[in-house]
Amino acid sequence: MNENISIIAKKISETSNNVIFTGAGISTESGIPDYRSKGGIWDKFRPVYFNEFMSSRDAREEYWRRWSELYQDLILAKPNPAHMAIIKLHEMGLLKSVITQNIDGLHQESGLPDEKVIELHGSTCRIRCMSCNKISSIHDVKKRLDSGDLAPECECGGYLKPDTISFGQAMPVEKVERAIKMSKDCNFFMVVGSTLIVQPASHMPVYAKNSKAFLAIINLSETPCDGICDVRVHGKAGEVMTKIINEIDQNGR
Ligand code: NAD
Repeated sequence: MNENISIIAKKISETSNNVIFTGAGISTESGIPDYRSKGGIWDKFRPVYFNEFMSSRDAREEYWRRWSELYQDLILAKPNPAHMAIIKLHEMGLLKSVITQNIDGLHQESGLPDEKVIELHGSTCRIRCMSCNKISSIHDVKKRLDSGDLAPECECGGYLKPDTISFGQAMPVEKVERAIKMSKDCNFFMVVGSTLIVQPASHMPVYAKNSKAFLAIINLSETPCDGICDVRVHGKAGEVMTKIINEIDQNGR
C-alpha cells in the first residue's frame, strides 16, 4: 500500500492537471452511509423513480419521509480528512477539478470553490421547484415537513424536490459534457470511494485512461476499472488521502 501511495504522490506532484472523482465512499467517514456497502441505503430502501415522484402523491410522500430520515445525517455531517486532503491539493495548486457523484455538498463545505466541483448528480442541500425552478432552503422545507406538510409544493403549485438526479431523471447535459472534457484532458485521474457502477459518471475514468491519463483508484471494494488502472489502493479514503498529502509535503512541494 505504501509503495502505491508514494507513486500516487509523485504523479500528483508532476502536474497541476489532476482530476479527482469522488463517490459515496469518501463521505462514509463523515457519517453518511453509502448505497451499496452492507448496511448501505439500498439495504433499507427501494429508490423512488422520477416518474413515480411526478405522478403520485403517495410516492412523493414516501420520498420525503426517507429524505427526512437522511436529513439528520446530512446536517450533522462535516468534511472528513479525505475532503480536507483535497483542499490541501487545491491550496498547493495541484487540483484541476473534482467530479463528484455525491449529493451531500461536503466538498463545498470543506472550502472548495463551486467552480472546482462538478456535481453530476446534483445536491440534496438545495430544494428545487419542478415547475418554476425556484430554489428553497432545506431548513424551511424540513420545517414544513415537520409541521405535517408531507409532500411540500411551491407557491406556484409545482412539486418541490431535492435538487438531485433521481433514477429515471435526465442527467444535466452541460455538467456531463464538462466532466467528460475534464476527464479526457487531464494528466492524472483518481477515483476515491466509488463502486464505479452508476453510468455515465462511472465512465469518466475510462475516458481519462483512454486519453493516456495516469489512473489511480482508492476504494474499499473492487471496481470494474481495477483491471485498467495504473495503481489501486485498497483502504479508507481519509487515511490514504492523508498519507498522500504527507508524502507530497515531505518531498518538499
Ligand atoms: P456506492 O455506494 O455505490 O459505493 C461506494 C463505494 O465506496 C463502495 O465501493 C465502498 O466499498 C467504498 N467505500 C465505502 N467507504 C469507504 C471509505 N471510507 N474509503 C474508501 N472507500 C469506501 O457509491 P457511488 O459509487 O458513489 O454511487 C452511488 C450513488 O449514490 C451516487 O450516484 C451518489 O449520487 C449517491 N449517493 C451519494 C451519497 C453522498 O452524497 N454522500 C451517499 C450515498 C449515495
